Amino acid sequence: MNYPINEIFQTIQGEGYYTGTPSIFIRLQGCPVRCQWCDTKYTWTCSNNNQISYEELVKKKISDQTWSYINAIQILENIKKKEWTAKHVVITGGEPCIYNLLYLTTELEKQGFKCQIETSGTKIIKCSSNTWVTVSPKQHQNTLPASILRSDEIKYPILKQEDLFYLEKMLSMVKNKKCRVFLQPISQNQEALKICIKNCIIKNWRLSIQLHKYILIK
Ligand code: SF4
Repeated sequence: MNYPINEIFQTIQGEGYYTGTPSIFIRLQGCPVRCQWCDTKYTWTCSNNNQISYEELVKKKISDQTWSYINAIQILENIKKKEWTAKHVVITGGEPCIYNLLYLTTELEKQGFKCQIETSGTKIIKCSSNTWVTVSPKQHQNTLPASILRSDEIKYPILKQEDLFYLEKMLSMVKNKKCRVFLQPISQNQEALKICIKNCIIKNWRLSIQLHKYILIK
């Protein structure tokens, strides 16, 4: 099965539970969610005009709208060729769950990788049962209760105190699940950071600060 992929790179995971973990990021092209503060707007559309070859994609150095259809075998070949050592794979986007990720996650797991999906939770999540699912709900978007139930962590972006109402509302829909919640200030906003710290302490949640943006890596 081929997936439209925007970029593949090795770095350190900067967000949520796996912060600090060496990771291979696979960024899928396409997202219908359209968050206002999105920092990967170049992934939104999957236009044929921006389709490039596999060879061009693996050499790509900049983040732009170009993408290529790639399958799991090619991904594994590329990881081997580049001699990447990370054993954790983060499948992100865009919104990766507009695609069926069962095949991709299963193939990566067969080769010894631990998979993580980062999703808005607005689409049905299709992946292996061992995949770590990070649901990052967006305010005023339709996060599915099934996504919250499947999640291993909830990474919630915060700009103002009122943003917490939507999170509390979602958590109340899945009362029987013990959720691992991370609050993450949007765009390193200092006021948002204070709100996150305050509420993490009150609720015994955890803080996610987008470490990669502070240490200036991708
Ligand atoms: S779901 Fe993610 S990729 Fe899509 S618009 Fe929102 S932040 Fe951007």
